[in-house]
Amino acid sequence: MTKIIDGKAISAQIKNELKEEVAKSGLKATLAVIQVGKDPASSVYVGNKKKACEYIGVGSASYELPEETKQEELLKLIDDLNADDSINGILVQLPLPDYIDEKTVINRISPSKDVDGFHPESVGNLCIGQEGFVSCTPAGIIELIKRSGISIEGKECVVIGRSNIVGKPMALLLLANNGTVTVCHSRTKDLKEICKRADILVVAIGRPRMITAEYVKEGATVIDVGIHRTDDGKLCGDVDFDNVKDIAGAITPVPGGVGPMTIAMLMVNLIKAAKLVK
Ligand code: NAD
Repeated sequence: MTKIIDGKAISAQIKNELKEEVAKSGLKATLAVIQVGKDPASSVYVGNKKKACEYIGVGSASYELPEETKQEELLKLIDDLNADDSINGILVQLPLPDYIDEKTVINRISPSKDVDGFHPESVGNLCIGQEGFVSCTPAGIIELIKRSGISIEGKECVVIGRSNIVGKPMALLLLANNGTVTVCHSRTKDLKEICKRADILVVAIGRPRMITAEYVKEGATVIDVGIHRTDDGKLCGDVDFDNVKDIAGAITPVPGGVGPMTIAMLMVNLIKAAKLVK
C-alpha cells in the first residue's frame, strides 16, 4: 500500500509543538513581513504567515508598501528593521516588482534575522554544515520524510531542479543527512534513467504533471514540490499523482503535501531567531 504523506497533519504537529514551547517558555518573538504591491497570491501567502504567527503565540508586524516604492525606500525599511531589537525575523515576500533587484534586497537582511534562509551567509552555512537558517520549503521536505519514518542515510536521492530556493538547498540537506545525491536540471541527459535509480525522488521543476510512473522506481518515496492551477481550477503538482501513486512507496499529494510545510518551517526559523537574542 502506498503511503500518502500528509503535509497538513505534519505541519499542524510542528506548529503545535512550537505553540506549546512558546506558551511554556514565555519566549517573545515578532516577524516583520514586507509586501511590495498588491499581487493577490502574495497577499494570501502573507496573510497565512501572519495567521501562523498568531496561532503559535508570537507577533507579526506588517509592512504593505505601494507598488511604486523605490528600492532605496525598501532598503531603508530593512535597515530600520535590522536595527530594531523588537523584530526577530524579516521576510520580504517574493516576487518583487521588476525594477527592484531581489538579490540586493535579500543581501540587505541581517543574517541573524534571515528567517527565509535566502541570504548568502545562510546558504554558505548550510553548504559547510554550520548552524544557520535553512530555506523553508526544503527544510520542510526533510521533516516530511523523517516524520514519515523514512530514513535518508545511504539512500539514492535524486533532486530535479536546481533553483536557489528549492533544488540546491534540497540537495545540500539530503547530503547533510547522508543521502547519495544527484541533482538533475533542464540540461540533464537521460532524466528518466537517473530518476528510476532514486529511492527518494524530489521533484521541483515547475512543469505540471511531468513526472509519470516511467520515472519512478517501485517503492520509491516521491516528493512533489510543484504547485499549478489547472484549467478546471484545481491544483496539481509536477508529478502525475494518479499515474505514480501505485508504483511509489510513499508520495506527497498536491495540495496537502509540501505546501503546508513551508509556513511551519518559517515558524521554526522565527523561534530559532528569537532564541539567538535570548
Ligand atoms: P524554478 O523555475 O526556479 O526552477 C525549476 C528548475 O527545474 C530549474 O532548475 C530547471 O533547470 C529545472 N527544469 C525545468 N525544466 C526541466 C526539465 N524539462 N527537466 C529537468 N529539469 C527541468 O522553480 P522553483 O522555484 O524551484 O519551483 C519549482 C516548483 O515548485 C514550482 O512549481 C513552484 O511553484 C513550486 N514551489 C512550491 C513551493 C511550496 O511551498 N510548495 C515553494 C517553492 C516553489
